[in-house]
Amino acid sequence: MTRIPQTTPAVGKLAPGVGNLGMREQPVRPPGPGEVLVEVIATGICGTDLHIVDEEFPSEPPVTMGHEITGEVAAIGDGVDATWLESRVACETYFSTCGQCHHCRDGKPNMCPKRRSIGSRVDGGFARWLTLPVRNLWRLPDHVGRHAGALVEPLACVTRILYDPPVVNAGDSVLVVGPGTMGMLTAQAARAAGGVVTVAGLTKDRHRLELATSMGFDTLVVGDGSAPTGFDVVAEASGHESGAALALGAVVRDGSWVQVGIFGKAIAVPLDHLTYGELRVRSGNASTPRSWRRALQLIDAGLVELDPLVSDIVPLQEWERAFAATRAGEGMKIVLDPRMGAE
Ligand SMILES: [Zn+2]
Ligand SMILES: [Zn+2]
Repeated sequence: MTRIPQTTPAVGKLAPGVGNLGMREQPVRPPGPGEVLVEVIATGICGTDLHIVDEEFPSEPPVTMGHEITGEVAAIGDGVDATWLESRVACETYFSTCGQCHHCRDGKPNMCPKRRSIGSRVDGGFARWLTLPVRNLWRLPDHVGRHAGALVEPLACVTRILYDPPVVNAGDSVLVVGPGTMGMLTAQAARAAGGVVTVAGLTKDRHRLELATSMGFDTLVVGDGSAPTGFDVVAEASGHESGAALALGAVVRDGSWVQVGIFGKAIAVPLDHLTYGELRVRSGNASTPRSWRRALQLIDAGLVELDPLVSDIVPLQEWERAFAATRAGEGMKIVLDPRMGAE
């Protein structure tokens, strides 16, 4: 077994207010009963992390950020099945929920008002070592690349939005607005449900649209005055006001509008489209154990590919560069690897 150090380097929000992102050395907590110690392989940087930095998403600093986590189980606490040791895993994001409210009792822990999530209220995965309840773990299929396991979490958010309840019917024309990671996962999950999927982006998204093409999707470039229309289902995955306006205009009457992106602020869009078109609206907040199970079954069956979406693997020490690139919309999914260049 790997030797476990006393402290781990960690990147997070160190104080309340806009910004205050930094690196610190923090103690490694030995796993208690029902817990495991995970050695992180990779943690993805997500739009939500930028919203946390910008004070647009609640957090409890000082806190280590990072919630798209894959790693290997390095140690187990009392009562944990020994087969978890050395397993390669992806990690669910709720450190705790109240277990008492009607949402928890309905099996929707994502709705619990007292939910404490890893990476915003409890220390997360931008660190080399992380202690978690064993119930958060999912074993990864062997064919998933080491770093790509970080993308199971965003896929579980997408399967929550699209499948629970189902939004896409076989043969539906589906437009995904925004070819970032969430858009590409949405496109794949919609195709797995039988949708005929087109991915839309801006001129600056050229490389992302090329990736979409290589994964078998039709693509279109918006912003030159043309506006797509007539899609049965439109998923807004850009998190921008202009993307939302475009998405609303692209839904056919009696169709469905699916909100995937997060704006972080109030936006102005022509909501009368909902009324005149009798549109159905669907979204989802984070993930549930059921959406994780579905995500892993899609991966296992080869219906969703994660590996092509990992564009950059950056050492944890170089977090500033990785955050700047994520903010600039460079590449696709940028992950931090705490072992790279460390040892
Ligand atoms: Zn995320
Ligand atoms: Zn609850």
